[in-house]
Amino acid sequence: MSTPDAPAPLPLPTASQLAAQISRGELSPLSALQSALERAEAGRALNAVISLNPHAAEQAAQVATRLASGETLPLAGVPIIIKDNLNLQGTHTTCGSRMLEGYVSPYTATAVARLMAAGAVIVGKANMDEFAMGSSSETSAYGPVLNPWDHSRVPGGTSGGSAAVVAAGIVPLSLGSDTGGSVRQPASFTGIYGFKPTYGRVSRYGLVAHASSLDQIGPFARSAADLALVMDVMAGHDPLDATSLGVPAQAAEPLPRRLRVGVISESLQGNTPGVQAALAHTLAALRELGASVQEVSLPSTGYAVAAYYLISTPEASSNLARYDGMAYGIRAEAGDVTTSMSAARAQGFGAEVKRRILMGTYALSSGYYDAYYSRAMRARQLIAQDFDRAFASFDILVTPTSPFPAFRLGERSRDPLAMYAADVDTVAVSLAGVPALSLPMGFEEVDGRALPVGIQLIAPTLADMRLLTLAAALEAQGAVQLRLPVGAEA
Ligand code: GLN
Repeated sequence: MSTPDAPAPLPLPTASQLAAQISRGELSPLSALQSALERAEAGRALNAVISLNPHAAEQAAQVATRLASGETLPLAGVPIIIKDNLNLQGTHTTCGSRMLEGYVSPYTATAVARLMAAGAVIVGKANMDEFAMGSSSETSAYGPVLNPWDHSRVPGGTSGGSAAVVAAGIVPLSLGSDTGGSVRQPASFTGIYGFKPTYGRVSRYGLVAHASSLDQIGPFARSAADLALVMDVMAGHDPLDATSLGVPAQAAEPLPRRLRVGVISESLQGNTPGVQAALAHTLAALRELGASVQEVSLPSTGYAVAAYYLISTPEASSNLARYDGMAYGIRAEAGDVTTSMSAARAQGFGAEVKRRILMGTYALSSGYYDAYYSRAMRARQLIAQDFDRAFASFDILVTPTSPFPAFRLGERSRDPLAMYAADVDTVAVSLAGVPALSLPMGFEEVDGRALPVGIQLIAPTLADMRLLTLAAALEAQGAVQLRLPVGAEA
């Protein structure tokens, strides 16, 4: 007898398969869109989608015309959902906040424009933690996103909506953003791939800024080949983002014959048994591929959570200063300009965003700057040096993506520090700016339910392709645990 929550196999086509089918004329872009919309409707309970793109059908028709005229489109007709902090011209961008009420984007983010140029059809915008602050997708003004594996649990955050739509099989690909783990951790909580590229690989133009020195757009997918496909389309220099790197597109990188894998010692404490088992399974699979596996200490990563919150909140406090209720978004008329501005900010922002603005302003203020911000910047330097040193001896570093699987809704939301602690495995990577991938490598049985567990692979700056090649090898070997939650098979 099978248990009711036994993971189902994976019958849905990947983005690469769908694009090939559509390019061969076996399926029209419009019917691919139609099925995505039906699945989105069936998955409404997840609260993963904030809005549908009113121009999606028009986009699908354009893709059909381009294909008919002989164009080759790598993402031909692939339905994609994007996080609602990415601008798409003519649609409402909310950032999961009331602050942007009524705001219609006058332009499209470069990453999204590149997907569309490659034939993708944007189905809609995904729910998220307000202004990408959080680790659970519970701080959205549009209500929390539910985990497709267990509706009483969070999907992780902040890109929880983007993760849930791919995990539930609504679309094969989605975009999120990752400042301190917001693509990797939800990928881990929902049992799919989530990739954070090297800082600067993907243009941030049109991504609403949270902490500009850390923000990166990253994809969610159910196949390693799809990650490589979407990165190929999306990455590369953009004159509209001064921090985007001017490096050429990356070709597939053959793996070294004897891959040197380092397991970060500091990540081995405090993990649940299911996370430990998934890590052991991953290391065994890597050894089977011929890798050598050793522990390596990165001592400064112990300061990563503190440093991350002292660096990201000052950046956020200055980035969010532009929301003054004047030029766009919510408006509150309250006598003079200053009072109107504070009224708009008081009404528009939720509690976590206000907390970040206060923390960030405090950390930057005179008298505290040296004690907080500049010390955190020094810690960031030490963390980056730890990674440099480790990468002199290892090709790949490994940690769990999170010490535990998905937690219950409400479990951490009353205690900000408990929420921040959930980022312990992901923020050091962000501070160092290196690329990292979360792969679904196991399940943990909690209260009779199978919850996905993710493992994080980390590579040196610009070795993004090494991660995707390794993921493809682990997938081909059968080590990756991609499943669909029950109810999403149809
Ligand atoms: N949890 C982290 C934060 O709240 C990371 C968020 C993110 O990556 N956007 O800042």
